[in-house]
Amino acid sequence: MKHVVITGGSRGIGAAAVRALLEEGYFVSTCSRAPTEHIRCFETDPALRERFYYQPFDLARIEEYERFLDACVARGGPLYGLVNNAGIAQAGVLATFPLVDCERIVRVNLIGPLALSRAAARHFLRHRRGGRIINISSIIGSRGYTGLSAYSASKAGLDGLTRSLARELGRIGVTVNSIAPGYVRTDMSAALSQEDLQQIVRRTPLGRLGEAADTVALLKFLLSEGAGFITGQVIFVDGGLSC
Ligand code: NAP
Repeated sequence: MKHVVITGGSRGIGAAAVRALLEEGYFVSTCSRAPTEHIRCFETDPALRERFYYQPFDLARIEEYERFLDACVARGGPLYGLVNNAGIAQAGVLATFPLVDCERIVRVNLIGPLALSRAAARHFLRHRRGGRIINISSIIGSRGYTGLSAYSASKAGLDGLTRSLARELGRIGVTVNSIAPGYVRTDMSAALSQEDLQQIVRRTPLGRLGEAADTVALLKFLLSEGAGFITGQVIFVDGGLSC
């Protein structure tokens, strides 16, 4: 059974991904700062709970990453995939944006995935069975957005990690890719005003906001055998907004 670790599985895109991967037959490990109804549902469903592991874990605690991954491997077996999904966003123009919030965003969205990818890379190098690393980025990492400089910088950094790590791990059959969603209907985008959301929909060729399922569909493909020759890419899932 293939084991995938996905961060931030308690809500939004992460929760949808956990459910989809459990339904595909993967063993899925996940974390978040606090459990939610989704987590309780995965832990109690008789058809899913044997292939599910949850640990409360704050991704800002970089020194505990190796231990977190070890605990996942102890439950789910050797790692096949790592999905760096957890992320935070906070709006505000940079000139007045508190430095402490800049630091927190970069820590959770970039340093965390970097540290967890490092731990996963060590695991992949030891086991040499190939594998997958998928970073959930954002179109804002490539295009920018007024009031989201720290978030944008963290996602651009994540895409840089994708490209370099793809080169480092290609020779052992590990692919590394970024998925860059547009605006997805989750708690994170709920902070946008109705006016902003309507403008985004108007500018999107496919005429709607993204759903978690749109991102999860690509995630499932990138985890599949069929995606084994795709690496180092940043793939947009944005209804054509950035075309
Ligand atoms: P969401 O609904 O806010 O969920 C975020 C998840 O990350 C939650 O499970 C949250 O759990 C977890 N998380 C946040 N901080 C954490 C921390 N310090 N330690 C552990 N877990 C943490 O967000 P989403 O919309 O699903 O976003 C998922 C990913 O997609 C993010 O990387 C985001 O940047 C990206 N993305 C989202 C959109 C969008 O429009 N929604 C667009 C482009 C990209 P806790 O809060 O309980 O810790």
